[in-house]
Amino acid sequence: MRVLIIEDDPANQKFLLHSLEQNGYDAVVAATASKAEELISAQTFDGIILDLGLPDEDGLTLITRLKSAGMTAPVLILSARRSVDERVRGLETGGDDYLTKPYALPELLARLRNLLRRKDLSATEDNTVLRVQDLKLDLLRREAMRGEEVIELTTREFSLLEYLCRNAGKMVSRSMILDQVWGMRIEPETNVVDVHIYRLRNKIERRGAAPLLRTLRGMGYVLRDK
Ligand code: CA
Repeated sequence: MRVLIIEDDPANQKFLLHSLEQNGYDAVVAATASKAEELISAQTFDGIILDLGLPDEDGLTLITRLKSAGMTAPVLILSARRSVDERVRGLETGGDDYLTKPYALPELLARLRNLLRRKDLSATEDNTVLRVQDLKLDLLRREAMRGEEVIELTTREFSLLEYLCRNAGKMVSRSMILDQVWGMRIEPETNVVDVHIYRLRNKIERRGAAPLLRTLRGMGYVLRDK
């Protein structure tokens, strides 16, 4: 795990660097906001420890800019600013956690571990959850949702919806569906696909909302991705 320490105080810099390395992290230090920005644009970090009082820029301004530019690494703010207002502001501005100085090293390490674990979990979610518009398919739990509402699907309907989600925005023909979802050659004139599409529509479409699943007559279906 690679951690960036953004801190201008030499004593704390040295202490953090040493402590993180002792605990198996690959740690890098930046003493200014501009140095931090330069490092972040060139490398990937799993987490960031951020001091707020930096010589060239306020840490909160820096973090706001980095997060709006798409940085996803979790940020642990480590600051002498300890009032409730300051802590709330830090968390609202893009800090994922806030620890005040002086701090206890075991607590800092525990919070850092927590942040990195949370990031890990959301990274796995990217591979096991499919989203198309407000449809959400959890592939591990085999659960489908539209918005906040759970959609009850049979195993085959779930597989069909999964296939459509994976190909969202593209046309899939009946024979592609048969091949990929049923996995065998069925008589081409069978209406098994149409029957399942019909049932799936009844479960996923919502009255008054634009249809998710379009039929292209004589060709196939498209699950609309926008
Ligand atoms: Ca400082």
